[in-house]
Amino acid sequence: DDKKLDQIIKTIEANDIKFLRLELADIHGLPKSMAVPLKNANDVEDIVNDGLLFDGSSVAGLASINDSDLLAKPDINTFSTIPWRPESKGTSRFICDIYTTEGTPYDGDPRGILKKTLEKAEKRGYQYNVGPEPEFFIIKKDENGNYVPADEAEYFDVEPLDQGTDIRREIVFGLEELGFDVEVSHHEVAAGQHEVDFKYADALKTADAVITFKEAVKAVANNLGVKATFMPKPFIGINGSGMHCNQSLFKDGENIFYDPNTETQVSQEALYFIGGLLKHAQALSAILSPTVNSYKRLVPGYEAPCYIAYGFKNRSTLLRIPASRGLGTRIECRSADPSCNPYLAFSALLEAGLDGMDNKLDPGEPTEENLFAFSEEEIAEKGISNLPTSLWEAYHALEEDDVIIGALGDKVFNQFYNIKRAEWDAYRIQVFDYERDEYLNV
Ligand code: ADP
Ligand code: MG
Ligand code: MG
Ligand code: MG
Ligand code: MG
Repeated sequence: DDKKLDQIIKTIEANDIKFLRLELADIHGLPKSMAVPLKNANDVEDIVNDGLLFDGSSVAGLASINDSDLLAKPDINTFSTIPWRPESKGTSRFICDIYTTEGTPYDGDPRGILKKTLEKAEKRGYQYNVGPEPEFFIIKKDENGNYVPADEAEYFDVEPLDQGTDIRREIVFGLEELGFDVEVSHHEVAAGQHEVDFKYADALKTADAVITFKEAVKAVANNLGVKATFMPKPFIGINGSGMHCNQSLFKDGENIFYDPNTETQVSQEALYFIGGLLKHAQALSAILSPTVNSYKRLVPGYEAPCYIAYGFKNRSTLLRIPASRGLGTRIECRSADPSCNPYLAFSALLEAGLDGMDNKLDPGEPTEENLFAFSEEEIAEKGISNLPTSLWEAYHALEEDDVIIGALGDKVFNQFYNIKRAEWDAYRIQVFDYERDEYLNV
C-alpha cells in the first residue's frame, strides 16, 4: 500500500491536482463528496491514514441525527483523476469506506454491506463478478419547457438520426481516463436512449464503477449542454432504462457456471444460483427496482420483465443465460434498473444466489416462449408468478424475506424500508392529469 500511496502522490504532483474529493454513496446510490484542498501533495498521506469526520445524518439513509458522527476513510484502490473537472488545478478522488468514530466499520454503510457479503463468498473460494448494462436517456426541453428525448433515433442508428454520437464519444473518453474498459456503446431502442457497456469485474469494483459511471455520464452531458437521466421510465409508450446485471462466480480463475459436460454447458451450481434468484425475486425487486417509477418500466411489451422465470434465448423472462460459454457463462438479471444502489443490489443478488446453492433450489424447466404473448391466466396456468407491480408490493415482499434482509443487515434494512414507505406514501396521495381525464365525469 505504501507503494500505491507513493504512486498517487507522484500523480498528484505531476498533474497539478489541487483538490481531493472523498466520495461515498447514499442509500439511493447517489454520489456524495467532500473536497479537500491540497496545499501539498504529501497531504494525501494524512487523509488516507486518518480519514475525514463528517455528519452522517445529512446523507440520505446513512445515520440518525442522534448518532451522526462518522468517519470517511479513502479506499486507496479507488484513486482516479476526474476528467470532467478543469485540467489545470485539477481534482482527484477516492471512494471511501465509512467507519464509526471508534474506528470500526459502520454497519449502515452500503459499500461495507457489500464487502461483508463478498467476504462470505470468498470464504468459499468464490469471486462474484458483475457486468452491468446501464441505459440512460439524453433529454432536452421543448418549446413548452417539457423534457423530451433529444433525438428520434432507434436501435443501433447512426448520425444524423442518432444525436448522441458526440456525447457518447466524450463519455467513452472520460470513462477510459477513469480506467474503464468500455466494451461497446450504441443507441438504444427508445428515442434519445443510449447504452454504454463496460467489462465485468468483481462486484465491489463494479459497484464503484456504476456510481462513477452515472456521475460521469451526467457531468459530461451537462458540460455539453444536454441532460442525461437514469430515471427508469421517463416516457410512457417507449422502452424504459434498465441496468441488466450479468453475474458469474469464479473459483481459482475458472467460471463455475460453466460445465462442458452438461447438455446446455451450464453447471448445476448455476442452476441452483438461479433457483435462489427465483425464490427471492419478489423481495429482490425492492432493491433492484427501488423507485415508484421503476414499476412503470416493468410492464409487458417493452423488453422489461414482468414474470418470475428464466430462459436461455428468451428476453421476456426475468433471468436469461446468454449464449456465451467458458469464462463468459453468466446469468443476466433483467429487472434491475439504474435507480438502484449497486452495493445493495449486488449484495442482495449474491445472497439470493448463494441461498439457492446452499439449499440446492431447483429452478425447474426454462421458459422459452415469449411470455408477453400470453394472458395473465395462461401465465398463471404455467405456474409462473408475477414480479411485484408496485413499490408497495415490493417493500412488503422484502419485509417477509429474511435472506434478503440479511443481505442488507438490520440497520440498512430499517433505513431502506422506512425511506421506501415514505416514498410510496408521498406518491399515493398525488392526483395526476391522467386521473382527471379518466374520472372527471363519473
Ligand atoms: P446483451 O446481449 O444483453 O446486450 P451485452 O453483451 O451487452 O449483453 O452485455 C454483456 C455484459 O456482460 C458486459 O458488461 C460483459 O462484460 C458482461 N460479462 C461477460 N462475461 C461475464 C461474466 N463471466 N460474468 C459477469 N459478466 C460478464
Ligand atoms: Mg448490452
Ligand atoms: Mg442490449
Ligand atoms: Mg440494452
Ligand atoms: Mg442485456
